[in-house]
Amino acid sequence: MSDALILVINAGSSSIKFSLFEAEQDPQLICKGQVEGIFTEPAFSAKSAAGDTLAASPLPADAPKTHDTALRYILNWLRGHTAGKTLAVIGHRVVHGGPTFTQPVRVTPQVLDVLDTTIPLAPLHAPANILPMRVLAELLPDVPQVACFDTAFHRTQPETTQLYALPYEFSQQHGIRRYGFHGLSYEYIASVLPRIDTRAATGRTIVAHLGNGASMAALSAGKCQATTMGFTALEGLPMGTRTGSFDPALVFHCLTHLDMSVQAVSDLVHKQSGLLGLSGISSDMRDLHASDEPRAKLAVDYFCQHVAREAASLAAAIEGIDALVFTAGIGENDVIVRQRVCQQLRWLGIDLDEAANVQRSPEPHRISRPDSRVAVYVIPTNEEIMIARHAVACAVD
Ligand code: ADP
Repeated sequence: MSDALILVINAGSSSIKFSLFEAEQDPQLICKGQVEGIFTEPAFSAKSAAGDTLAASPLPADAPKTHDTALRYILNWLRGHTAGKTLAVIGHRVVHGGPTFTQPVRVTPQVLDVLDTTIPLAPLHAPANILPMRVLAELLPDVPQVACFDTAFHRTQPETTQLYALPYEFSQQHGIRRYGFHGLSYEYIASVLPRIDTRAATGRTIVAHLGNGASMAALSAGKCQATTMGFTALEGLPMGTRTGSFDPALVFHCLTHLDMSVQAVSDLVHKQSGLLGLSGISSDMRDLHASDEPRAKLAVDYFCQHVAREAASLAAAIEGIDALVFTAGIGENDVIVRQRVCQQLRWLGIDLDEAANVQRSPEPHRISRPDSRVAVYVIPTNEEIMIARHAVACAVD
């Protein structure tokens, strides 16, 4: 099957990312790229698996600034780079599976209709996720497409964990529950654990996916038992620009007493809060570490404290902890955040190896002392390969 290719599409509100894999026993990355700034100044870039730049250019100035144009541009570029090979399957990252989709699914007209019903649950992401499926069904009707959901991994949570304490019938009627997100990342981490630590793979592992969007999940034998994000990706940890959990009555206060519109409150909690809102400087952890401003420190302190608090809460959900895993932009790179979180969790049996913590590696590596009761790892995540694996498995079913 080595002439067969797998295309992974990750379409966001203003960008379309792609990864191209060779369909080996485990998919092998060939290249990846994206069109960014779709509505402003669309630009295309692509890199080889080794990280060499293959292309970097703005889209033609007279091209319509739409997802459709961006996708067609990517396909055209790919055609020129895949001569003699066959596109066997396309996998899509889909942020929200709604109440219906609990595992990857082959895209059909019926599936697309059901996916449309998830738009109110993820109004920013769902339309962007769905549109490429329709365009590709038209352009490449013979290539199977598979939708992979960020919510699916969390469907193993017990009912008590998935519920909010709202009237039960109300939640059932309106599909209200704690869906959880970043599931493809957690699933990838769970797939790596058996190779590096049997106790972590079969026992109780807490994974901290700390990126611009941040969440954590408690796994028992690789299955999700609890996670910090809920109905939307706003709940849980503070993030780059999102509040994380806060008292929802604050929304009523803003609407009723501060004369704010619904849009203004939404922007406040999604776009102006988190690290950016606390610091007044940046949503990027690197900028905060580089700053001497007291509020930069405040934002870092707030973030670290909440990661530690959520870890303890998740440990209660799975009655203990055997391993802690850091992943995503901050989790994989930020020595200070990892050090601070582990320091605050010493009482749980975490003993960080300071020297191992500062070592950089693209491979999974242990950063706790050999005699630490809880093993701590840094594992680079790879959501794209997870989608590629699902796409192949689902297409041959
Ligand atoms: P997302 O996929 O949610 O957009 P990423 O997982 O790519 O986010 O993480 C992006 C974030 O990771 C950046 O906003 C930055 O805060 C953080 N980050 C990236 N590199 C570093 C680093 N070397 N040190 C600290 N933080 C980093």
